[in-house]
Amino acid sequence: MIQNNRMQRNIGRHETTGNKSYAAHRRNPVLTLAESRRKTNNQYNNYKTAQQTVPKNVYKGVANRSTKNNPGARIQRITQAQPVKRTNRPVTALGRKIINKIPTNTKMGGYIKPKNIIEKTNQDEVLRIIPLGGCEEVGRNMTLFEYYKKGQEKNKDIIILDMGLQFPEEDMPGIDYIIPNVEYLKGQEKNIRAVVFSHGHLDHIGAAPMLLEKLGNPMIIGRDLTIEMIKHRVEDYKKGTSKNLKTSYIKTLDDKYTFGKITIKFFAVEHSIKDAVGFILETPAGTVIHPGDWTLEADPQGRPIVTYGHLANLKTPTILMLESLAVETKNSIGRPTETQMLANLTQIIEEAPGRIIIGTFASQVERITQIIDIATKHGKKVALDGYSMKMNMKLAQQLGYIKVKMGTLIDIKDINKYDIHKLIILATGAQGESNAVLSRIVNRNHKYITLGKSDTIVFSSSVIPGNERTIQRLKDNLYRLTDNVIHSDIMDVHVSGHGTVEDIKEMLRQIQPTYFIPVYANHYMLKETAKVALRQGFDKDKIFVPDNGSVLEFYPNAKPKILDKKVNTDYVFVDGLGVGDISHIVLRDRKMMSEDGMIVVIVTVDKKTGKLLTSPDLISRGFIYMKENQKLMNDTRKRVRTIVNDTDPKIEAFPDYIKNKIRNDIGKFLFKNIERRPMVLPVVIEV
Ligand SMILES: [Zn+2]
Repeated sequence: MIQNNRMQRNIGRHETTGNKSYAAHRRNPVLTLAESRRKTNNQYNNYKTAQQTVPKNVYKGVANRSTKNNPGARIQRITQAQPVKRTNRPVTALGRKIINKIPTNTKMGGYIKPKNIIEKTNQDEVLRIIPLGGCEEVGRNMTLFEYYKKGQEKNKDIIILDMGLQFPEEDMPGIDYIIPNVEYLKGQEKNIRAVVFSHGHLDHIGAAPMLLEKLGNPMIIGRDLTIEMIKHRVEDYKKGTSKNLKTSYIKTLDDKYTFGKITIKFFAVEHSIKDAVGFILETPAGTVIHPGDWTLEADPQGRPIVTYGHLANLKTPTILMLESLAVETKNSIGRPTETQMLANLTQIIEEAPGRIIIGTFASQVERITQIIDIATKHGKKVALDGYSMKMNMKLAQQLGYIKVKMGTLIDIKDINKYDIHKLIILATGAQGESNAVLSRIVNRNHKYITLGKSDTIVFSSSVIPGNERTIQRLKDNLYRLTDNVIHSDIMDVHVSGHGTVEDIKEMLRQIQPTYFIPVYANHYMLKETAKVALRQGFDKDKIFVPDNGSVLEFYPNAKPKILDKKVNTDYVFVDGLGVGDISHIVLRDRKMMSEDGMIVVIVTVDKKTGKLLTSPDLISRGFIYMKENQKLMNDTRKRVRTIVNDTDPKIEAFPDYIKNKIRNDIGKFLFKNIERRPMVLPVVIEV
């Protein structure tokens, strides 16, 4: 099966630009994609600079005052800007033709409106887009794409993009995480042609172990690190099952997959994990462009390195699905560059009075490698701590992505053998995760690290929305333990992997999509991003803000629409190893217990007479301290006694009846007395 699919691929056609850099990356995997791309871009830039001097504002590809009244000049500038920005060859004749054909909208901030493509109505062929998660939260990212001819739904082709998890909200006690609900796919498993993974972050691959198994292990497509990470997680979930995975590695960005009338292609994106890839899905009803997670990384002068302009040349109508976390990033101007950030980290490492503990995301293999490099240069030792961090580094080393000088990496067990001035510890838990390394250090639970005043703690990470309070608490506790805590509010020690509002505008300018669908964020962020697009001159009826479960339909020659009926996307909770066995009732109980505690009422009655044999027993957990509330306890006991003695034992289902009565009456009684609603747990023992 894999063999066949591999044969279907058409490797070797070079349609997109930037392939050289990817090839360079393959030749020398130690280079990051961005670095290698920078190399080829630089070579080209040098050549280009010799030919012409490009005004700075061209980098933005945006209308400026001097060109505002002369749209022709602006088009010229955009076509000029293309090769300088991302490609290593001038725009093709075809590309220029397409750009020239597009009418301009001089009123708006440089956004060029594509021609209205709807001429004849044809709804016979359908492209459906269904987000199963990721459109009302950060995480749980999963999107379905379906293509079929009307009347032949049974033979439809389904492609899935990402299977991520979501971390629980504060009102979900005891839940480890939430995964997308795949109920809709039940009975359609045989139509799933492939699952494409854009990159290895948990909000994109975290649900793969449970869902792939549930869906009968369809083929999975991704780049090396992504697939290796999935394999590892599948193995962690159920030992010995990763061999059931049908994997297909994306070897170059020119790789293509064809499933019926669907063609899948890829493009380079900049994101905070290696091997992130953008996704293109071509069908006769429309072309979807989905960068997964993305940012526009700026070079030291603040100009973007990876650009996306070539995507404007894809077959129309194009549908841009854009991860839109941007409204969270208030300072869209003055974002630090990689270079600045590394200079800051170097300075911290040089000047630290003692040990340095750097908290970062385990998946930031690139950042971790950079820190190891700085450490090597300064003759310091690095210990990695945290299961996921060690695992990711091991995978990256196995894939040849990083090479570490012998002797630099040491085991966390050995840190106390070294001088504190020589030590850097890279740790997980910068999001305040309760069982990760930083939390263990703060709680003085760490086996090898006891934090001292001379230690330096660096948060080289951003705050994932929803984690603000937990991280604040962690920071406060760290400030009590050491005098040197450094985070992004103090110094630029992190560059986010997500685009800013300015970046979103830039994406719209470069890609010029027919339709725009902001995704992969909370609802308010999607709405704010839609407003950004509106301000850029986008037509209101060409922007869709989906909910989880929304069904969007696109046709070759008709207006797209969102169907009235949504598919089920109810939460599926994962609790330990149990998947989906936690219902909302369980959760409500946990919430109730966490708020007001519980009280157990034990009554022992005579089976025949139904009379109480002993005084009722009361046990309080998390409700009140019984010794200090003697009166209330006695009154409660009295009340229970009355309930039992007033009940006729001859009624059917006597114990159940009595239990319900105790639960209701005692619940009301306690609320009336102390305004708390503990869970009342009655136990009836018949002897
Ligand atoms: Zn990501």
